[in-house]
Amino acid sequence: MADTIFSKILAGEIPADIVWSDEFCIAFRDINPQAPAHLLVIPRKAIVSLADASDDDTALLGHLMRVCAKVAEQEKIADAGFRVVANTRTDGGQDVPHLHFHVLGGRAMKWPPG
Ligand code: AMP
Repeated sequence: MADTIFSKILAGEIPADIVWSDEFCIAFRDINPQAPAHLLVIPRKAIVSLADASDDDTALLGHLMRVCAKVAEQEKIADAGFRVVANTRTDGGQDVPHLHFHVLGGRAMKWPPG
């Protein structure tokens, strides 16, 4: 898998405001926040997108979901509610080809998304 902005953040080559770090993933603040709280949760493993994950990644995907909820708790947006989004491939609007979950909160979200 080619280097991406996120693999460079994981390698410590470019800075990020990291709010969570463990053996399997990190979470950091989105540089262009779309809500008062906007975090990105990414695996350390180089997976391009949700569509590129395999059955071998099932436990990792579950862990990432738990971290989304824990980060929402940490950011104090869990009680009011929040949204988790995984833009996937071209029609999903994915720009960075490294799996990531957006965690958005601090305001009421609209539906449907654009
Ligand atoms: P997506 O469009 O789903 O691929 O989302 C990529 C996200 O990465 C966007 O919300 C960007 O604002 C965010 N982003 C890009 N570069 C950085 C960076 N250096 N640090 C933090 N977030 C970034």
